[in-house]
Amino acid sequence: MSSETAKLKHPKGLWVLFGTEMWERFNFYGMRALLTLFIVNSLLLKEEEASLIYGGFLGLCYLTPMLGGFIADRFLGNRNCILLGGSLMAVGQLFLFTSASVFSSNIELAKTLMWIALGIIIFGNGFFKPNISSMVGSLYPKQEKNKLDTAFTIFYMGINLGAFLGQLICPIIGDVKDVGGIRDVHAFKWGFLAAGIAMVLGTIVFLVLKNKYVVSPEGKPLGGLPSKRDASDFEEGESQKAVFSAKALILAVVAFAGLGLLFHYVFGQNVIYSIIYASGLSLAGLIISDTSLTKVERDRILVIYIVAFFVIFFWAAFEQAGSSLTFIADNQTDRNFFGWQMPPSMVQIFNGLFVVMLAVPFSLLWDKLRVRDREPISPVKQAIGLALIAVSYFIIAFNVKDLGNDGLLAIKWLILLYLIQTCAELCLSPIGLSLVGKLAPKRFASLLYGVFFLSNASGYALAGTLGAILPATGDKFTKAQELGIDLQAVLDKTVTPTAEQLKLLADNQISAINPVFAGFEIHNLFEFFMVFVVLTGIASVIMFALKPVLKRMMHGVR
Ligand code: GLN
Repeated sequence: MSSETAKLKHPKGLWVLFGTEMWERFNFYGMRALLTLFIVNSLLLKEEEASLIYGGFLGLCYLTPMLGGFIADRFLGNRNCILLGGSLMAVGQLFLFTSASVFSSNIELAKTLMWIALGIIIFGNGFFKPNISSMVGSLYPKQEKNKLDTAFTIFYMGINLGAFLGQLICPIIGDVKDVGGIRDVHAFKWGFLAAGIAMVLGTIVFLVLKNKYVVSPEGKPLGGLPSKRDASDFEEGESQKAVFSAKALILAVVAFAGLGLLFHYVFGQNVIYSIIYASGLSLAGLIISDTSLTKVERDRILVIYIVAFFVIFFWAAFEQAGSSLTFIADNQTDRNFFGWQMPPSMVQIFNGLFVVMLAVPFSLLWDKLRVRDREPISPVKQAIGLALIAVSYFIIAFNVKDLGNDGLLAIKWLILLYLIQTCAELCLSPIGLSLVGKLAPKRFASLLYGVFFLSNASGYALAGTLGAILPATGDKFTKAQELGIDLQAVLDKTVTPTAEQLKLLADNQISAINPVFAGFEIHNLFEFFMVFVVLTGIASVIMFALKPVLKRMMHGVR
């Protein structure tokens, strides 16, 4: 092999991790595409409840990686955690399959099975996700760390190829609607089963190929048991671990409890959302109050925190994909795609597809700008990401403005939304991950990744809260009309519904009042989308304005 080829070549282990993660994301995103529709159509919960469950579920999926990372470091090692996490997720899917098989005869049992399934998947994801990502980094010796950006771009494509395939297969077999729009509520189970099979495949790929390929350049297996590691497995400075005093740890626990109670009782957040917000803040507080930090280190950590705060608004807007946007795709969209009726849960597939298409062009774009010395600093790229999200919702807001209660949104507008949002994601998500790596002092790196993931988790929780303010979509008005009720008049309070009508509406999961956010009543889809325009727009403007301050505080890091 010529030295030129060697310089560009990636270790075979990267492709094993790529394949494993691809099947795992197939399982995760395939199931996720169906989850809210299953909750609403089979388990008969309201869309609002489904959005809150979805937000809490995703949020917890990004809280447990802290635990998975910790257990891998101290006890089990990356490999075992990946195998454990993969197996747990496959079992979780089987529980969902069972839930979706029994709901028509025993809905309460089906709900219990769904809760157990989500719990198992949350822990499975916590064991799997941080460990597979950190193994990507450890495949490369120190002198080849410059390949890491490309390695993560390739890996990010694996993630999204999996998401694409999952959102293709699971909706085709699991989200079945006939031409008249009548859904086969018994089909969801096949989607969950396919997701489970994908996870089993991913776990087997890893199990079989890991010893041969997931190895260091010297051929030693990577990610083994921590007790078996020797000093040569650590890079210089890596073994330095953060050590907190007992006093600091106690303070952090007290802060966690206090903040949790504050979010729950004062801000009215549910228990899960309160735990997510409180753990992020108390962990951030614990790290920044450490007395061993120098001024430069503290400044850089503060930059991570500021960025992490704004990233919350990004994910809150971005992660409407599996909840409110799927409901809109289901209930008020003309999904005719070149003559074919696309299943509603499949519409979000365009995100994965566009990432696979655009990840390389974006990384080439940054390379080009860097050569010309014009590459923006990372927080500016992220501010661009936020601005793009605002633009995407602005366009859609104007397209739903004149739809009224029975007009249908053309699918091309949702495709355009996912195209813009994917560009936004590529400006923000991979950039954020590598920024944390560059800014974090080594001894706090994994904890700061923890804070960063917790900000993702908080974004998902906020996504749940915001998804729950989706006003009534077209199907609700039609359904109410069939029941002899003028829903628009009820919502406008121009007629007062009788007790019997209220019960009829509730039995059909239709709310008789408009949702309210921050004191504002949300009357229609236009106002709903404008909430996201305002939130991400303001976040973006502030982030742009902070550029000089952030640049100074980064002390030379870009
Ligand atoms: N879509 C990516 C994944 O599933 C990133 C998600 C995130 O960082 N919040 O890994």
